Amino acid sequence: MAKAARQPTFFAMTEGIAMTALVTTAPRTMQLQHREAPEPGAGQVRVRPRLAGICGTDLHIYQGHHPNAVLPVVQGHEFVGVVDAIGPQVEGSIQVGQRVVVEPLVSCGRCEACRRGFVHVCRRLNVLGVHRDGAFATAMVVDAAKVIAVPDRLDDRVAVLTEPFAVALHDCRRAGLVPAERVLVIGAGPIGLAIAMVARASSASVTICEVQPPRLELADSLGLDVIDARHEPATAFARWTDGEGFDVVFEVSGTAGGVRLATDAACARGRVAQVGLFTEPAPVDLNTVVFKELTWLGSRVYSFDDFRDMVGLLDRLTAEGGCDPAGMVSETCTLAEVSPTIDGMIRGEVAGKALVALDDG
Ligand SMILES: [Zn+2]
Ligand SMILES: [Zn+2]
Repeated sequence: MAKAARQPTFFAMTEGIAMTALVTTAPRTMQLQHREAPEPGAGQVRVRPRLAGICGTDLHIYQGHHPNAVLPVVQGHEFVGVVDAIGPQVEGSIQVGQRVVVEPLVSCGRCEACRRGFVHVCRRLNVLGVHRDGAFATAMVVDAAKVIAVPDRLDDRVAVLTEPFAVALHDCRRAGLVPAERVLVIGAGPIGLAIAMVARASSASVTICEVQPPRLELADSLGLDVIDARHEPATAFARWTDGEGFDVVFEVSGTAGGVRLATDAACARGRVAQVGLFTEPAPVDLNTVVFKELTWLGSRVYSFDDFRDMVGLLDRLTAEGGCDPAGMVSETCTLAEVSPTIDGMIRGEVAGKALVALDDG
């Protein structure tokens, strides 16, 4: 920036800042492209991502399975970075050099959900890294209103997990979780692990179940109470809850087995929060929903408040100890290694979260 500003104005071919972007140009095709970094417009800031997360959504986009991703696109909606330019008409205290996370949802503001204040379930919801260029790049432009400062003591490797943890916080709030409730999380992928950690931080008694051995091991290494759902059927639930069932079940697996387990494992008048998405219609046992008077509720992404609150909560949890969100990180790759890393994730070779380290080149 400073270098460009020193050019005589009548030669003002604005000398831009170089950036590298990993562009998904077609299914299973990612290209490294060198570009001029975008300048922030009114109400925007430019962020230099430092670490980004690879999420299940990224796998869907990469494979061409995402229902409405817009290619070509720079993927990546989970990231921590540093503000390096501020556009005009930006209010508030954001400064160049500040470490930040960014809530990546872009709502239309006009649909019925938006008008009622539920902007995260907007009918035309766009997401950075899905419908607009995201964080698998060394620079990106975002709305200043979506930027949240990261406390100094919060490590990049934890701050980068704000987005999946905001999902978890939203799920717990949607489920109306209160302290001392018995919680079962079905599915120990990164979101399931985040839900388990957030629920446990609110003093719930948490059990997580899974069928894949590497994920079982990872959940165990994080100090969670784990059920191997391959070998321990209903008896395991009886053991954990004196035969009564769980007050709250988070169904995160998005599998037929998961929803069957959810109705079996919930107690009378229990709540089931549906977090996982299905590729085929789910075989929900509605008779059991009736007989037990279960409440089945859907939960999608997060509100801005969830996202902002999660930054503070991550700071508190990691400072107080007893919770190690970064423990779910299985590997970190470079921008050039994203494609093979995603291939490995599709083959089930990555148990936990994969991160992308972005150098400043
Ligand atoms: Zn995600
Ligand atoms: Zn809307």
